[in-house]
Amino acid sequence: MWSTIQSYIKDFSHLIFPHYCEGCGTDAILQHEFLCMKCLAQLPETGFEKISNNPVEKLFYGRLKIQSATAAFYFSKQSLIQHIIHQLKYKGNKEAGIFLGKLLGNQLIKSEKFNSVDVIIPLPLNAKKEAKRGYNQAALIANGLATIFNKPIDVKSVIRTVFTETQTHNNRIARWQNMDGVFAVKNAEAIKNKHVLLVDDIVTTGSTLDACGNIILESGCSALSIATVACAMS
Ligand SMILES: [Zn+2]
Repeated sequence: MWSTIQSYIKDFSHLIFPHYCEGCGTDAILQHEFLCMKCLAQLPETGFEKISNNPVEKLFYGRLKIQSATAAFYFSKQSLIQHIIHQLKYKGNKEAGIFLGKLLGNQLIKSEKFNSVDVIIPLPLNAKKEAKRGYNQAALIANGLATIFNKPIDVKSVIRTVFTETQTHNNRIARWQNMDGVFAVKNAEAIKNKHVLLVDDIVTTGSTLDACGNIILESGCSALSIATVACAMS
């Protein structure tokens, strides 16, 4: 009897708050879900979380001393993963970030390579960009990730600032390279002797994660690992 009532309530709320799969648009989906089972099964998992010397780890060899690195999915143009990341970064869809973080978490908890992580740090966005978007997409991914991969998140200890004319005497090229900001560790005590997992939405050249990761390493963490939702290395 109760289950019948529950199912009536569910049907009724579905009428008032129609809910659709972000992938294919079907309404055969539960209220709290983001993708239907079919779309979920089609996401291109990399399996990198279980593989040493995987392509994401190789990307950082010789420039960033990492313990483990992974990206949950392959990124390609016109793909569902691209659509969801686009929703997250440009359409104000915060739920997309939580959803992607949970998918990443489901992979990390099954991997021994990430067992010893102590703290999750989302790649900081510079304050101006974060104010414009209203949130840091990497922080939303970290929030979703932490619900599955049960580790604390630190959004305060590492920051990203924007260079201004008065702050730099670098030449023109260096200034251009620094336009997207520089990273700094504000609270080294918080990450000292800890295994830090740096999290971002997508890894392409790896240069931003490299810059931030090296600053974190210099501050005395015991190990550094990287996890992103997607990878698009050429
Ligand atoms: Zn679907």
